[in-house]
Amino acid sequence: MRKVLLLGASGSIGSQTLDILKKHGKRFELVGFSVGKRVETVPSILAAFPSVKWICVGARCDAEKLKIAYPCISFYSGDEGLSEIVGNADCDMVVNALVGFAGLVPSVKALRLGKILCLANKESLVVGGSLIRDLLNKGSGSLIPIDSEHVAIDKLLSRTPRDQIEKILITASGGSFRDRTRESLSNVTPEEALAHPTWSMGAKITIDSATMMNKGFEVIEAKWLFDYPLEETEILMHRESMVHSALRLQDGTFVADVSTPDMHVPIEYALMERDVDFELKHVHVLNELGSYHFGEFDSERYPAVGLALGAFKRGGNACAILNAANEIAVYAFLEKKIGFLDIEEIVSSALEGVPFVQNPSLDDLILTDLRTRQFANEEICRRHPQ
Ligand code: NDP
Ligand code: MG
Repeated sequence: MRKVLLLGASGSIGSQTLDILKKHGKRFELVGFSVGKRVETVPSILAAFPSVKWICVGARCDAEKLKIAYPCISFYSGDEGLSEIVGNADCDMVVNALVGFAGLVPSVKALRLGKILCLANKESLVVGGSLIRDLLNKGSGSLIPIDSEHVAIDKLLSRTPRDQIEKILITASGGSFRDRTRESLSNVTPEEALAHPTWSMGAKITIDSATMMNKGFEVIEAKWLFDYPLEETEILMHRESMVHSALRLQDGTFVADVSTPDMHVPIEYALMERDVDFELKHVHVLNELGSYHFGEFDSERYPAVGLALGAFKRGGNACAILNAANEIAVYAFLEKKIGFLDIEEIVSSALEGVPFVQNPSLDDLILTDLRTRQFANEEICRRHPQ
């Protein structure tokens, strides 16, 4: 029986994780969870999982109200609360389904405590990949990815000797504006950007898919997870999101991971610690192969990928700057304060304007995140005075 702490239970990955925990009720006990603002989800989660003893919510006033309703449960709140709940909950597995930088400290803490970390929060690896790699190399914690491309690569690498592999191909749908020219995107609305063609996901990752910053993040994520050279990792455009990633082998053949786009599949793989006996739904995947589309990635059409990979190559705190500026810009776009194409501009100016730190500690990354948020907010005010 695995005792599980789920961070981000009210989100897209979080709610699908609850489905998997329910499906394998004999194997898992949910001992704690977190939500942010959506505290109205707490009663129904508690009704479905009465084993919960620890809960973290975004605001302190919500924690105080809930404590009155549920006196036997320990409540925490805010960023500090996320770190405390990882330290205090009696669990052996932490599922990190938070979005954004808020996920980094809980990931680091979970690994420091030797937990199994099932990681959806890609920002943890983008910002703190070096720290996390170090903890994995030296400590007793372990990490299993949840992102669908990385689960696909994880599976493929486990079956293929490294010396047979020529390239890792990370597939990309191209997001909601894939059929539009870059020039036509200056006045697009958040509603249009949120209409992803193949996946239903949280708002931030859906915008990151439209800029393809998400794919830049995923190449970085793959680098930290699999220690595979960046030059031998390629983005492959694939419209249907059926091929989750592939390997090109030295003998000229390909091996690919193919299934319907449903995040329950990679979440189950991670939670079951790779030991999955799927009841395959009878999708006629192979006889549909002829209708799948693949294409070359166009770096000029999607400059966010170049920004991400440039930051990764620069090293130090550059990816923390990249991520924080992107978060501020994405939410400003969702709130209609800036245009879609401003997102990349703001990230680019933050990468130039925020001080570089060569070997950042966790505290340096937290400081960089704060400084960059301030820089990006000022940049937004400068470009779009209210
Ligand atoms: P959602 O926005 O749907 O959910 C995010 C969760 O994090 C919610 O529970 C939210 O709480 C909580 N949260 C957000 N900010 C904070 C904060 N500052 N403090 C505490 N809690 C917070 O996101 P997704 O589920 O889509 O994505 C989660 C992660 O998984 C992201 O890193 C994403 O890139 C990655 N991912 C997602 C995929 C998907 O299919 N959705 C696919 C692959 C990766 P609340 O809503 O209550 O405020
Ligand atoms: Mg992905």
